[in-house]
Amino acid sequence: MPDVFADLVGQDDAVDTLRRAAASAAAVLRGAAAAHAAATAGPVDPDDADALAAEAEAEAAEGAGGADPGAGMTHAWIFTGPPGSGRSVAARAFAAALQCLHGTGCGECQGCHTTLAGTHADVRLVVPEGLSIGVGEMRALVLRAASTPSGGRWQVVIVEDADRLTEAAGNALLKAVEEPPPRTVFLLCAPSTHPDDVSVTIRSRCRVVPLRQPAPEAVAEVLVRRGVAPEVARWAAAAAQGHVGRARRLAGDPEARSRRDAVLAVPRRLTGVGAAFDAASALIEAAEAEAEAAVVESDAAERAALQTALGAGGTGRGAAGAMRGAAGQLKELERRQKSRATRAQRDALDRALVDLAGFYRDALTMALRAPVAPVHTDTAALAEAGAQRWAAEGALRRLEAVLECRAAIEANVKPRIAVEAMMLTLWKG
Ligand SMILES: [Zn+2]
Repeated sequence: MPDVFADLVGQDDAVDTLRRAAASAAAVLRGAAAAHAAATAGPVDPDDADALAAEAEAEAAEGAGGADPGAGMTHAWIFTGPPGSGRSVAARAFAAALQCLHGTGCGECQGCHTTLAGTHADVRLVVPEGLSIGVGEMRALVLRAASTPSGGRWQVVIVEDADRLTEAAGNALLKAVEEPPPRTVFLLCAPSTHPDDVSVTIRSRCRVVPLRQPAPEAVAEVLVRRGVAPEVARWAAAAAQGHVGRARRLAGDPEARSRRDAVLAVPRRLTGVGAAFDAASALIEAAEAEAEAAVVESDAAERAALQTALGAGGTGRGAAGAMRGAAGQLKELERRQKSRATRAQRDALDRALVDLAGFYRDALTMALRAPVAPVHTDTAALAEAGAQRWAAEGALRRLEAVLECRAAIEANVKPRIAVEAMMLTLWKG
């Protein structure tokens, strides 16, 4: 029976660590329950209860490998790894194992089920919608996380993209991580533990679980297990370059496939300056359209919900004040939606650039006659032609142009300017 860790592709070390930690956490809870039973069974010295709990913790540490006391219960964790390596999958799986009624992450019980479905009352998930997670959101979260778990196990807070916390939000989180309530566990996800991603102080309070970029074979295996035809699975896993979610989308979503086809048609189309600018426009507009399609529904739903909550119209005493408040709330919602749209657009553009980088990487490895499989099997002939024409140096310059474009956009250069500069280099070399 596949348990909650089954989807963590090619991450044996991390899964091992998490399984042991879940077992120790369960032992800590058993110890607490035993202490509680002893305390309620009759007059008992509170020291005894403490001793029982301490015993349970010792047992937990021992069950986790004995020699490694650090494998006991830790209240703050950071999952790091490149995008698509499964940081949030790992965090959710671990949350499920913590809430598992059997303490293992069986994947079958109510605790596992509701956690994975996102409906467990004691698991809170923060997914930044815009470019950053604000301090208000974080404070509210930290406050709720301090309450007693309703299911009697743990309060779990998952922060996806912890690198997108604002400084103030990071400080609010740090306070909670420094003095965690006894039954609260924080699970943060970030690309790395570099100070740009996670503050040094938060990092110092957390146990790090590094995830690797999974090999295409491992990704393909998961897709096959989910019913994808082996050939499609192999193609999608290679084209996604180790990004599990992307591989899943390529295998199952025709629109994602056609967007990728359009991006990979770019190198063929670069026949002059005009064509380079046209290609830049097309790439930017495609990213805008993709982002728009991704957010338009939720934007409208949120606006309608807020308008309903505020009540349409309204007269009498307090109505004027309520209207002023309503205007403020609508403005705040618009600001959040705009930030989310910008993020979606950048993400879409970045996916396109990663696909494009894969193509020039193929051309480079072919020019070098390196014995590695191409990323994009379906444009391999085109990459081979490029390798002939450009030689290794020319292919490398083009690959670098794509990577520089990504870096420039990350550093807030206007996307159109960065993409135009890239297209010119891709054309001229
Ligand atoms: Zn379970």
